[in-house]
Amino acid sequence: MRLEGGICPPRNLYAPPEPLCCWLLFRGDCYRHRTIRGSAGVFPAMAELLLVLFLAVGAAASRGDREPVYRDCVTGCDKINCTGARLRDFRAEQPLYMRMTGWSCLDDCRYQCMWHTVFLYLKEGYPVPQFHGKWPFSRFLFFQEPASALASLLNGIANILMLRRYRSTVPSSCPMYHTCLIFSLVSINAWFWSTIFHTKDTAVTEKMDYFCASAVILHSIYLCCVRTLGLRYPSFANAFGALLVLLFACHVSYLTLGRFDYSYNMMANASLGMVNLFWWLAWCLRRRSHQPYLWKCVLVVVLLQSLALLELLDFPPVLWVLDAHALWHFSTIPLHFLFFSFLEDDSLYLLKMNSDVLKLD
Ligand SMILES: [Zn+2]
Repeated sequence: MRLEGGICPPRNLYAPPEPLCCWLLFRGDCYRHRTIRGSAGVFPAMAELLLVLFLAVGAAASRGDREPVYRDCVTGCDKINCTGARLRDFRAEQPLYMRMTGWSCLDDCRYQCMWHTVFLYLKEGYPVPQFHGKWPFSRFLFFQEPASALASLLNGIANILMLRRYRSTVPSSCPMYHTCLIFSLVSINAWFWSTIFHTKDTAVTEKMDYFCASAVILHSIYLCCVRTLGLRYPSFANAFGALLVLLFACHVSYLTLGRFDYSYNMMANASLGMVNLFWWLAWCLRRRSHQPYLWKCVLVVVLLQSLALLELLDFPPVLWVLDAHALWHFSTIPLHFLFFSFLEDDSLYLLKMNSDVLKLD
């Protein structure tokens, strides 16, 4: 599909309905109109699936932001509305909460031009395009992706609640106490950055979201190592922990120093997720007759991997709010309660085992 050059449309004909109205765009001059004409290629199912998967990885450019109508709209809007007196007007009218959260005049141009392009696509019967690797979302206050931001916040709150519970029920003398505590803090940090990223997507918040998510997976593997081998061989757990820190440093350096490689990042996280899944599973299945509560851990690690497949649905947001990514974030909230319930049961089990050994001595 491509957009063709044409004449400038009457304002009321092409302006999307409220609240999607391009008020900022059409405050200035009218832009050259382009109509949408399809190239109507029919992809074989597998090729289309691969294309969807590639786009789902989060490519920096998407169909929507490659469209000349979008690019011209942003360039024109920026030139007209984000300089001189118009910019001063914009700053005077912009709510404080938008300024405080870093929304600029150019961001507003992109937002309005995105809806302008979406409206043209829908008007001519084409599917909703993505922009900069994302679906178009209806902004709520300063929240760029309100549903994902809310889901991330709820995930963080679930972790905080379970951390409080863990600290109140498990004595600090438990051998896993500090490792579990640090795991909880690493998770809370990751959900904090996820909330920030879904509130305002910038190069920094995006990287922090990705890196902190990788840190959670790595720490879960470390937690598994300490629980399965480290209590008997502490020096092995220390060496393995150092190796994971080195791995994380290399991962961050690679993605920071060069171009952000979305495919590599997804493959790295998926591979680490599989290591985490199979290590926990193997240990749980071997120990299940001694520790009946291990079903909680099995359910969590299996569901975590399975629910990630929700991302592949990748449908345009329902009511311009709820997309597959937000659905995935909502779906993980109950898993924190279950995983911490497992950690709590396991820590108390270890304490009981230790006290039984002391009694026998
Ligand atoms: Zn997210």
